[in-house]
Amino acid sequence: MNTKHNSIKLWDFPGGIHPPENKTQSTQLPLGNLPIPPQLIIPLNQHLGTPAKPVVQVGDKVLAGQLIAEADGTFSANVHASSSGKVVAIDQFVLPHPSGLKGQCIQIETDGLHRFIATETCENYLTIEPFNLLAKIRTAGVAGLGGAGFPTAVKLTTKTTQEIDTLIINGAECEPYITADDMLMQTSAEEIVAGTFLISHILHNPQRIIIAVEDNKPKAIAALDKAIKNTEPPAEHAGVELAVIPTKYPSGGAKQLIQILTGRETPSGHHSADIGAVCVNVGTVTAAWRAVRFGEPLISRVTTIVGESLATQQNINVLMGTPIDFVLQHHGFEKTKASRVIIGGSMMGFTLPDLLAPVIKTTNCILAPSKQELPLPPPAQACIRCGLCSEACPASLLPQQLFWYAQAEDIERLEAHNIFDCIECGACSYVCPSKIPLVQYYRAAKGNIRNHKSEKEKADRSRQRFEFRKSRIEKEEAEKENKRLARKKAADEVKLKLAEQKLNTETTLVSNELISASTIPLVETTVTSDPKSNDYQPRHEEQKARLERILAAAKNSLESAQVPLKPKNPEFPITEEQLVRQQSRIKQAQLKLVEAEKKLNEFLESNTQVAEDPILRAEVRPQPKPTQSPEEKLRANIEALQARLIKAIEKAEQAKTENSPSANALQLAVEKIKQKIEETENEFKELINSNKSNSE
Ligand code: SF4
Ligand code: SF4
Repeated sequence: MNTKHNSIKLWDFPGGIHPPENKTQSTQLPLGNLPIPPQLIIPLNQHLGTPAKPVVQVGDKVLAGQLIAEADGTFSANVHASSSGKVVAIDQFVLPHPSGLKGQCIQIETDGLHRFIATETCENYLTIEPFNLLAKIRTAGVAGLGGAGFPTAVKLTTKTTQEIDTLIINGAECEPYITADDMLMQTSAEEIVAGTFLISHILHNPQRIIIAVEDNKPKAIAALDKAIKNTEPPAEHAGVELAVIPTKYPSGGAKQLIQILTGRETPSGHHSADIGAVCVNVGTVTAAWRAVRFGEPLISRVTTIVGESLATQQNINVLMGTPIDFVLQHHGFEKTKASRVIIGGSMMGFTLPDLLAPVIKTTNCILAPSKQELPLPPPAQACIRCGLCSEACPASLLPQQLFWYAQAEDIERLEAHNIFDCIECGACSYVCPSKIPLVQYYRAAKGNIRNHKSEKEKADRSRQRFEFRKSRIEKEEAEKENKRLARKKAADEVKLKLAEQKLNTETTLVSNELISASTIPLVETTVTSDPKSNDYQPRHEEQKARLERILAAAKNSLESAQVPLKPKNPEFPITEEQLVRQQSRIKQAQLKLVEAEKKLNEFLESNTQVAEDPILRAEVRPQPKPTQSPEEKLRANIEALQARLIKAIEKAEQAKTENSPSANALQLAVEKIKQKIEETENEFKELINSNKSNSE
């Protein structure tokens, strides 16, 4: 197939600079290898996102390529053992970070055999559903090797709203000193082209596929040109265009490269996929292809080892987790000669505080310059408002203003001036005559804003949790109260019903008593002695006085029963049940009064007759003291049971409200008393009916 690199229309992006390239030092030797280090320190967070979770334990034997920590969530990546050996620690180790901070790592004591785990190859990957290919890439722990470390499977999972028409494979590698991608393109051009079609397939065959390389990499361009010519595009795939772009820093930035190749500008706050383009680094393409084609996890990468304090400068294939100190020593590092050790290039790299930090997936360059080669920056001077920084900025920002707002920690203004569009390319710092480390201010400001937002989000989440909990408790309380009221209502209804039943029973009893009054001997009115006898008079008086006292007591009871009810608490009015009870008490008192009057009258009449009639007197004999009749006994039982029932209901209700463990037992007791009442009432009715039929 013919490459079209001569015919591609190119655009320019604003700003940009031309620092010394320093690319030749590391490209004189072929791609090298390192011996397997005795210890590997493998960080759980080599990518952008949540750290992976360890799946091995200290003492476990592992093989090269074996999963040792699995991705924790979507924005995370699997981590694999880079070589075979034994896990000797899972602990905090120093990370390759400008702050020298420590992070969780798995330390492996290697056995030097580099025994590899069995892997699954896949030849016909272009016939496999993109979703399954993404799963393979995710399993292999592939993350962006260009420097960002974004999990590749996430990057290639585009939203339904994003229609990708252009796939760009980024081989620009614009940063001074770094030649890792250049070396990879020279040595693995066929894999890159094959991987390009794999990514194209995953993205549903975009209309354009472009591999972009800066014109300062002639060998890489030649290798790619050859590989593209030798590869027939699969059916339905666009042909690969090789774009040779002018060398200008930072043309390798994704947004800048998309602008160079398509003329499209990515709006502030958007991703390149939003404008139909996906940009993937050549190293990432190769890693993704090897993950799918050979089932190889990402355990090594090409890294540039460069700088005048080293005896050997070259690109090497290095295992993840190899201590940087180990790498440097194998390249004849002279510590006294070096100004510092930088991870990354001279523009975007950072000084490494601790050489024991390991190589990770994003380590594209270890730069150990001599003091003359890259002297420490001089102290910063005051800004002279020359505006050179604005001219150099490829993101069309106002670096000078951003610097002021960053110093003032003015988050609002920093965001209004699109600080998050800053790609931290360092072009502004490079051109600044006052040698102000502008990009460091922006990094710190971005970190502060992220922390501020994260704290705000945490506070918001905590407030939401509090409000949710509060509303849940209120709801539960309301439900409890509703249940309590429902139970109270049910209990009140039962009480009311019982009171009515009691009233009816009493009415029945009284009417029966009245009906049978003549047949039941009057206890108190019975003449107990002869009126003419010696003891008649005192006994008669005594009996009479007693009946009069009963009458007086009955009158008092009636009066007190008739006193209008007053609520104990003004907030709770008199209930219907209380009124029914009062009516019942009045009725009882009235009946007792009638009975007492009747008995007294009968007594008086009877004694008058006896006193006047000697025959009657003679007939009068002392009567045995009567016992309670069966009816009275049953009535007394019913009353006692009803009183017990009311108390039992109250206790059961209270136990339910308090969620007492005895609630069920008390409820059972209520049911039993009800049953007993029913049985006693039936017995009572049967007795009344039997008495009635006897009297008839
Ligand atoms: S380049 Fe430096 S001195 Fe000039 S305006 Fe920007 S910050 Fe100020
Ligand atoms: S570091 Fe940021 S502000 Fe400075 S030139 Fe690069 S993009 Fe512009």
